[in-house]
Amino acid sequence: MHPQLELLLELQDMHAQRQALRDEPLRKVEEEVFDLRPVEALELLDAKIEELTERLDPTVQRRYVDLSETLDRAVAPVLNGICYGCFVATPTAWSSEAGRNDRITVCAHCGRFLYYVD
Ligand SMILES: [Zn+2]
Repeated sequence: MHPQLELLLELQDMHAQRQALRDEPLRKVEEEVFDLRPVEALELLDAKIEELTERLDPTVQRRYVDLSETLDRAVAPVLNGICYGCFVATPTAWSSEAGRNDRITVCAHCGRFLYYVD
């Protein structure tokens, strides 16, 4: 898999984790139970997100930041030739190619980064 694509997936995972941390009402109840206070956890996560974002190539980074601002997910899986970000078919030539995850591809319809899982 393309190293930049791995980074993107890692980043997306951390964004989801961040969302979960922020939305979890349970965390407010007994903060002293946790080894890490939610605020600290968020700060650490933010720092890591920033660090990983810095490691993206400039063009990938620009697109990633733009996508993250407007969409829930900047990276979408492709299953059976369908982009799961927008549910529109991607060109079949791509999805049947070997090593298709070794390069950066984006959905022609929604612009999300794609990774193939089937
Ligand atoms: Zn799409």
